Amino acid sequence: MSAPTERTGVAILGATGLVGERLVSLLQDHPWFRLEEVVASDASAGLRLGDLIEGAGPSADLEVQSCGSELESSVLLSALPGEAALEFEALYTRRGHLVCSNAAAYRDDPSVPLVVPEVNSESLSESAPSVGRIVTNPNCVVSGLAVALVPLQARFGITGLTVVTLQALSGAGRRGLGAWDTQANVIPHIDGEAEKIGRELRRVFGWTFLPSVRVNRVPVIEGHLATVFLKLDGQPAVDEVAEVLADFRPPPPIADLPSSPPRPIRVMHPPDRPQPRLDAGLSGGMGVSVGGIRADSAYDVSFSVLSHNLVRGAAGACLLNAELAVQLQRGVRS
Ligand code: NAP
Repeated sequence: MSAPTERTGVAILGATGLVGERLVSLLQDHPWFRLEEVVASDASAGLRLGDLIEGAGPSADLEVQSCGSELESSVLLSALPGEAALEFEALYTRRGHLVCSNAAAYRDDPSVPLVVPEVNSESLSESAPSVGRIVTNPNCVVSGLAVALVPLQARFGITGLTVVTLQALSGAGRRGLGAWDTQANVIPHIDGEAEKIGRELRRVFGWTFLPSVRVNRVPVIEGHLATVFLKLDGQPAVDEVAEVLADFRPPPPIADLPSSPPRPIRVMHPPDRPQPRLDAGLSGGMGVSVGGIRADSAYDVSFSVLSHNLVRGAAGACLLNAELAVQLQRGVRS
């Protein structure tokens, strides 16, 4: 399957938010896509993108359009909040656009693919054609965690899972949480998040069991850390688990996508790693770091997984899905 020869025009819905801002920077010099239109709420409409976000680069002079405007781009990358996503993603698919979405609005709809390319790219290929439809990426924890789990699922089979998260403040968006609540503090709750993580992991992997999940908001800027406790078929040794993780490479169609890192998982041996401040930027934020792998007396193995919530967990995940959809469309056409 060949790579697109002409750059496809794309628009960002929610371009002025934290995820939208990352999408703008990931699209600079993108080999397949060209950012042509940016959309946000009525409050930002008519303003210059470069006056609203950091690092807009060559897209700084784009004028922000209001949601619902007629758009020319065939591919829309959506970083809208839930309610706006519910309304406008449906509107744009009715107009024939492909919408790749970060929002939770359609993730539980069985007719909408929920895709992590390294795990279940077939859920997108089975549902071609990909114009006039929505493709979603999972929640910011699941997008990274699924990458760390897929080699273990493939090699051994995962039969049980408990996840405890420490999630960065940027996960709550630009106008997320108040400074008083978040400084030098931990909030052991995020509305609906634990349920979402369990449900979406189950859907992406097709498990019959529901993982147990607890979540915490911590005073970290970027990077979600998850501690996982796993039951694996065959009770493999810790060294074998580490080797399977370190050897993981994306399968061929995914490895050809521009946003796919050649080595998506890094296994870290120092006992105090990974750490958000030091390690979240691995492979431009698309890499996932795994550390502290050890045998567990109640489960088979436990370890920590760190991924960048705004890149692997959101903007980069959405872009990877858009690349996969365009690659598949091109394969269908040629
Ligand atoms: P954010 O910083 O709050 O940005 C929201 C964006 O949507 C802004 O561009 C905002 O425009 C626009 N918007 C808000 N209300 C709107 C409306 N009624 N109509 C049209 N546009 C509207 O949020 P975010 O953190 O970037 O998250 C965006 C989406 O990605 C959410 O669905 C979130 O759940 C999901 N997500 C976020 C993360 C993360 O780590 N932050 C990870 C995974 C998924 P204005 O600037 O004009 O208000």
